[in-house]
Amino acid sequence: MINKTIDTDVLVVGGGLAGCEAAIKAKNEHNSVLLVDKGYVSRSGASPFAAGAINVCLPEDDKDVWLREIVERGEYINDQEWVKLQLERGYPLAMELDEWGRAFGHTIFERDEQGNLLRKKARGNINTRTCVINAIPAMDTMRAKVIESKVSLLERVMVTDLVLDQGRVVGAIGLGYRDGKVYLLRAKSVVLSASGCGFKLFGMGHRNLTGEGQAMAYEAGAMLRNIDQAMSNTTARAADNHGMSLMAAAGGRFLNSLGEEFMWNYEPEIGNRARLSKLTVAIAREIAAGRGPVYMDLTATSEEDQKLMRKIVPEAFKAFASLKIDPFKEKVEWMPAFKGTVMHGGGIHIDITGASNVPGLYSAGDCSCTPEHGTWSITGLNLTFAIVSGDIAGRSAASYAREAATSGVQKSDVEETVASRLAPLDAKVGLTPDEVIYRMQKVLIANDVAYIRSDASLRRALGEIESIREEAVPSVKARNSHELVKALETRSMIRIAEMIVRSCLYREESRGFHYRTDYPLTDNDDWLKWIMVQRDEQGSMRVWAQNFPTPYLPAPSGKYPPK
Ligand SMILES: Cc1cc2nc3c(=O)[nH]c(=O)nc-3n(C[C@H](O)[C@H](O)[C@H](O)COP(=O)(O)OP(=O)(O)OC[C@H]3O[C@@H](n4cnc5c(N)ncnc54)[C@H](O)[C@@H]3O)c2cc1C
Repeated sequence: MINKTIDTDVLVVGGGLAGCEAAIKAKNEHNSVLLVDKGYVSRSGASPFAAGAINVCLPEDDKDVWLREIVERGEYINDQEWVKLQLERGYPLAMELDEWGRAFGHTIFERDEQGNLLRKKARGNINTRTCVINAIPAMDTMRAKVIESKVSLLERVMVTDLVLDQGRVVGAIGLGYRDGKVYLLRAKSVVLSASGCGFKLFGMGHRNLTGEGQAMAYEAGAMLRNIDQAMSNTTARAADNHGMSLMAAAGGRFLNSLGEEFMWNYEPEIGNRARLSKLTVAIAREIAAGRGPVYMDLTATSEEDQKLMRKIVPEAFKAFASLKIDPFKEKVEWMPAFKGTVMHGGGIHIDITGASNVPGLYSAGDCSCTPEHGTWSITGLNLTFAIVSGDIAGRSAASYAREAATSGVQKSDVEETVASRLAPLDAKVGLTPDEVIYRMQKVLIANDVAYIRSDASLRRALGEIESIREEAVPSVKARNSHELVKALETRSMIRIAEMIVRSCLYREESRGFHYRTDYPLTDNDDWLKWIMVQRDEQGSMRVWAQNFPTPYLPAPSGKYPPK
């Protein structure tokens, strides 16, 4: 059943910004590196759609001010060592990327007339400012640099499982959906940078992000963390778009049906520039209170900012144009949009070397628990984290690989797993993957599951998810390798859906994206904890709360309405 075996020192799964950075840095250490992607590196995943904000602490900035802002706005569940790392390494790595871009003829960072990095106050920024990045040239640069660095590339191959040998990760199984081949990818260490799970919902850049990286890490025994912070963005109702950080930075206003700029009631200091977590819950609460629909109003933005928005997020404006909407002339209906574990929302628990608890397994970018963010602090941290965590995980995986023995894992050792992955191709009757995906989406995007939760609504969702997992997912059929990809995606999606609902049930307070009507307060006395998930020895999902250190900025004690 296995058509091809490839040996490498380091295997990187997922070639977004984080995976490309990891592969390049691992290769710099003179290892052989294979980068495998489900799509086409530079045009798949979230990275090419990133909407311009990259929060980089410049050398002249006060790092303590940045740390305070990120930790306070991350509602104190950030990993503060990662925040510090990001503040120290973000700037040199961003400038290295800028340099690579120049060498390949791309402009990555926007600069003012004096040549200084353009900086703006975007969502969540009070004492800090975000730089402006062109995501597509950045990803074109990454692709070119991966090739120049002699990283081997394997594209249109979906990785489905990790391979273990005596508790150590020694490779992965991949399914080539264009050539129909099954690959055994043997490696001494693996970096998972395949993002999280977006459940194929309304959203640019994450139709193929269906959680395999996080699900396969779970199956291998890795701990995952902060999945209770499964996240949402907000978007125009008529067409998904991106660029809201820039829109808010340019003076965009959120209005309810009474014409009120309601965000000042939820985030008095910065109103329309509120963090994503606050904005999502606020829009959902306005609608629930009968003050919907909600609009984004860009009519008062300056011509200069309008030009910048059109340049940085062209896809958003193409979508508006196709619907004959001019967002600079009329207010646009807006809504929350659930994103799951893509762009943040929890993931693989990593230490400051990017290592998981499973030997040989590392993670970077959105596939990891994005430890710097806490709940979701300020806009633009994700892109910086992608390059910082990619750099760290790539180097760490390379040095692990230098010391590690080659595994003797053979094709025959993985045949049983491969057979079960290919089984949907043999099913003569069954559900289509789309039917199952739709059922899952309906459970997760219900208002009382995605945004305004309670014990009762989460228990109802868990029951439905368990029935989809037990009955629907095992009976999916596939007619060809493309449908097989979708069938396998239902497996990882249901796993992540269960993690989300179980983690949300566990956290009995409100914090960040997690808003519960039955526990409406943030509770630093009992819940200043990370919610962890791991597969136990019986194969059940274990969820628990873990204390964590706050070495630089302790949290205030007490209970209070979410800040
Ligand atoms: C519309 C939008 C706007 C955004 N705007 C901003 C912004 O302004 N600022 C900011 O900081 N962040 C922003 N973000 C978030 C940011 O883009 C992401 O956090 C970041 O790009 C994540 O990079 P990554 O490399 O971890 O993942 P991705 O770029 O998503 O890459 C993951 C890769 O893994 C591959 N993959 C997935 N599954 C598999 C599999 N099973 N096998 C093999 N390969 C697989 C995918 O094909 C993809 O190439 C935005 C995100 C979106 C969607």
